[in-house]
Amino acid sequence: MNNSKLIIGSHVGFTSNKQLLGSVEEALSYGANTFMFYTGAPQNTKRSPISDELTYKAYQLMKEHNMDLEKVIIHAPYIVNLGNLENFDFSVSFLKEEVRRASQLGIKYVVLHPGASVSYTKADSIKSIIDGLNIILDNNLDVTICLESMAGKGTEIGSNMEELKTIINGVKFKNKIGVCLDTCHLSDSGVDITKFDEYLDLFDKEIGINYIKCFHINDSKNIMGSHKDRHENLGFGDLGFDTLINIIYNERLKDIPKILETPYVTPDDNSKEKIYPPYKYEIDMIRNKVFDSELINKIRNN
Ligand code: FE
Ligand code: FE
Ligand code: ZN
Repeated sequence: MNNSKLIIGSHVGFTSNKQLLGSVEEALSYGANTFMFYTGAPQNTKRSPISDELTYKAYQLMKEHNMDLEKVIIHAPYIVNLGNLENFDFSVSFLKEEVRRASQLGIKYVVLHPGASVSYTKADSIKSIIDGLNIILDNNLDVTICLESMAGKGTEIGSNMEELKTIINGVKFKNKIGVCLDTCHLSDSGVDITKFDEYLDLFDKEIGINYIKCFHINDSKNIMGSHKDRHENLGFGDLGFDTLINIIYNERLKDIPKILETPYVTPDDNSKEKIYPPYKYEIDMIRNKVFDSELINKIRNN
C-alpha cells in the first residue's frame, strides 16, 4: 500500500482573526495534509467577513506543504435544517451564504447534515430538503454539497441509503451534490462496517461510488444500530482500530479525504473537561497502522 496517497486530516478551528491561515497552521501541527472546519460557530449565525489576504497567505502555506485545496472540507453549521418546513427560509438563506463563503475561500466541498423531520412526515421533510438544495445549489459556483450519512438519532434524515438516494435523485445539478460517509454514523444506523466492501458494492449499485467525496473517520462509543451518535477515539470504541484502518486504506477510496472528528481527551478519567486534541497522535497511529493502547495516556502526559 502506498502511504503517500493517504489524504488525512481532522476537524480544526477557524477563528475570525486568522481564518483559513489559522486552520492550515493547526492542521500542519497535527501532521495532516487536509482538514475540515466550520466557517464560524456551528451553533450560531455570527460570521466574520472573509479576508482574501489571509486566504492568500493560507494558500502559500498550503503550497509549501503540498496540501491540496481540493481536498479541504467545510462543515455547514448544524443550526440549519432544510427538513424543517417552519424554518425553511432561514436555513436556505444561511446555507446559500455558506456556499458563497466556501466559494470565496476556494473550497469545493461543504458537508451538510441533510436535516431532521421534527414534527413533519419524513416524506414532507425530504421534499423540503430537495427543494432547499435546488434553491441553494448554484451551477455557476464550484461548490458541491455533500450529504452526511447520519446515525438516525431522533428524527434525522439520511441514516439509510434510500433517503440519501431520494434526495440526490431530486437534485437538479447532479455534479453539485455528493455524500460524506461517517463511520460512527454508519455503524449507529445499523451498517456492519466490518464488511465495508459489501456496503460499498451496494452503495455503488444504488447511488454510485463517485458520489462519495469525503469520509468522517470516528470510532463509536456504542454498538451497531444504537442511533446514539457518540464518537470515540480511534481504536477505543466499538468499531476498533483494524476495521477503521481497512476503510482508511481501502483502494476504492484512496483519493477521498479522511477527516477525524474524534473527541478531545480529558486530563484524567474522572474529568469531563475535554482539552487535548488527539489528532496528531491518531494521525500518527493511522500512518503506522499499529494500534497504540497507551495513546490516551500519551496525549495526557504531553
Ligand atoms: Fe457532521
Ligand atoms: Fe461526521
Ligand atoms: Zn456525529
